[in-house]
Amino acid sequence: MKAAVLYEVDQPLQIRDLLQDPPKGNEVRVKTEVAGLCASDHHVMKGRAIQPLPIVLGHEGAGIVEEVGEGVTRVKPGDRCILSFVSNCGHCRQCRTGNPQLCDTNLDTGPRQYDGTVRLHDNGDEIAQMSKLGVFSEYMITPQQACHPVPDEVPMHVAALIGCCVTTGVGSVINMPAASVGMTVAVFGCGGVGLSVIQGARLFNARKIIAVDIYDHKLEFSYKFGATDVVNAREQDPVEAIRELTDGGVDMAFDSFGSARTTNSAVMALRKAGVAVLIGLGAVGETAPIDMVDFLRNQKSLVSSYYGAASPHETFDKLVSFYLKGELDVDSLITRTYSLDEINEGFSALERGEDGRGVIRFG
Ligand SMILES: [Zn+2]
Ligand SMILES: [Zn+2]
Repeated sequence: MKAAVLYEVDQPLQIRDLLQDPPKGNEVRVKTEVAGLCASDHHVMKGRAIQPLPIVLGHEGAGIVEEVGEGVTRVKPGDRCILSFVSNCGHCRQCRTGNPQLCDTNLDTGPRQYDGTVRLHDNGDEIAQMSKLGVFSEYMITPQQACHPVPDEVPMHVAALIGCCVTTGVGSVINMPAASVGMTVAVFGCGGVGLSVIQGARLFNARKIIAVDIYDHKLEFSYKFGATDVVNAREQDPVEAIRELTDGGVDMAFDSFGSARTTNSAVMALRKAGVAVLIGLGAVGETAPIDMVDFLRNQKSLVSSYYGAASPHETFDKLVSFYLKGELDVDSLITRTYSLDEINEGFSALERGEDGRGVIRFG
């Protein structure tokens, strides 16, 4: 079974033939169909996010259930599934209080299965699976709760992107209590997540959706998803530009990039009582400065949204229906397709800041 393995930070992924154990209790074997290349994988490759190595990366994907272990009741062989990168346990405090995306047990067991062991081996080495998935591999063993079946009308590349960037982006808007019809919005970063935030704002009929990026081609691309105005932060001060476009600031600002500078700008670009949402993953240890007087006197809020800030399975169902009704464009997010062997090329394109999402299609 072929998979792309990260053995060392700052080194290319290696395509290896791995040994895979069969699924244990409550686990399934999934044949991977499509895997998305996400900045969170790239952060691990570059050492900006820490994972035990060696590991099969990839947490945005879709596949078909091929084999089920003992006690599996949620899915059966042949089910076409979105894969959730949080396999929530259902019993911990976070799961019980309505935040399964923050499941403690899932976090504690990390890139190992729930019994603490791994299912992949290479010459005696244990290989971890990012988010209990590791979608950069032909087959995956995952907990059954990672699998969310979708109707046949949903193409697998659409299901794959709903697994991470679409849920993370659209969910950060539609699951936020502060979102309101006709609001004004600024979105920092126009990658797969940022473009999905833009579409979330469009679902709320936002009257202004200001896209901010440092690449003109990405800004141009963002109009396709609902941006009404664009700001190139290399050419203009984005905060000033946003205040000018909105008569003093936006109702909501989203940092889909995740850096000290973009989070600071998101908060500064708010109107009084506005809400900024941090979505993009910053580097480990990074902190963002907040102007405390501006923040308090203008009664601003800064909140964060992890995996759409709600149950991923609930958000998946909403997004699938939006897609089927033609209200959510997932197809156009995909601009590049690779084979597993070309995965490093795909990450180079991501690093260069090319438009949209790259995906791997498995044979
Ligand atoms: Zn991701
Ligand atoms: Zn839990």
